[in-house]
Amino acid sequence: PTASASPRASALPLRPELADEAPYGAPQLDVPVLLNVNENPYAPSEEVVATIAADVAAAARGLNRYPDRDFLGLRGDLAAYLGRESGVTLSAEQVWAANGSNEVMLHVLQAFGGPGRSVVSFAPTYSMYPEYARDTHTRWVAGRRNEDFTLDAAHAVEVVEREQPAVILLTSPNNPTGTALPLAVVEAVLDAAARVRVPDAPDGAGAVVVVDEAYAEFRRAGTPSALELLADHPNLAVARTMSKAFAAAGLRLGYLAASPALVDALRVVRLPYHLSAITQAAARAALKHTTALLAQVDALRAERDGLVDWLRAQRGPTGEPLAVAETDANFVLFGTFADRHAVWRGLLDRGVLIREVGPAGWLRVSVGTPEETARFKDALTDVIAGVI
Ligand code: PMP
Repeated sequence: PTASASPRASALPLRPELADEAPYGAPQLDVPVLLNVNENPYAPSEEVVATIAADVAAAARGLNRYPDRDFLGLRGDLAAYLGRESGVTLSAEQVWAANGSNEVMLHVLQAFGGPGRSVVSFAPTYSMYPEYARDTHTRWVAGRRNEDFTLDAAHAVEVVEREQPAVILLTSPNNPTGTALPLAVVEAVLDAAARVRVPDAPDGAGAVVVVDEAYAEFRRAGTPSALELLADHPNLAVARTMSKAFAAAGLRLGYLAASPALVDALRVVRLPYHLSAITQAAARAALKHTTALLAQVDALRAERDGLVDWLRAQRGPTGEPLAVAETDANFVLFGTFADRHAVWRGLLDRGVLIREVGPAGWLRVSVGTPEETARFKDALTDVIAGVI
């Protein structure tokens, strides 16, 4: 079997629900233009690299000891960053972090999900969410988005009232569609969540609402962050990551902001010392260079808007204009193609890797450098024209 094959054929006593499952992950292929996993195309500067190297060396001198289990230094730095980015004042006790925001959200499901409980989200959305549910024995329920991928507040409230979930996952901007959520929709869901009766929870506990803002820094000017709602909503958690805007996907550092009580619940389920001393040192070093690391965000936003305009002006193989989803993220969902795999493959044959993800017929391309965008445009033009 290959590394990504399903483990079904083995004679191991695997949990039955895992028998047909393959490990999650996009293909990691060695091609010139990588526009498939929404990374930041700009590598850290030598100055940033030098600070990280020096601070990691200092941490290495103490590696015989376990790391700081509660990492309040890093949590304080992240709180300061969020304050600066969104204007919302937060304390270190309101921040939690782990090895990627995937792990942060798994902690949420470990603490608040579980057998007899459900988690609600709205499809199409990030395909890891059902895996958090599976791995914590939480029932997965998907509501739906409108044709244009916006989320209808009335529908969201209806699903929450019907399902009485323990956890609700909202995503803004949403992956793979790029759709940002107006705060009014988040507030409607928070109101409904407060009325939920979670099985085996104290009366009045309500559901936990996570707003996954992995791509928040790419949102358009004037779009508020759900961080603004934290002060009035003890059941709200806003998840962020250093993987995208911060150009540090390899660091594996995700985090969330929430009430101190919610964060305390996550501390119960984390493995001891889950954030290595190396990770803590590298993340704090990177945060010293916040301005430099985020310097390309404006450029990437402009590049995205240009790419959206260009895609909207293109016609697909049938002569129809391409459909292009509104996006506040560093990627664009476009289509629709009768055979999207052939388009994906044609691009790959021309050295451009994008992602075959989302509803049938759609493809997602991450925003790269201007040179990468140019390669993508040329390749797509070729593929649509049927030039082999
Ligand atoms: N949330 C969303 C919506 C994402 O798209 C991703 C990454 N693709 C993540 C969370 C997880 O990112 P990380 O674990 O690198 O922080």
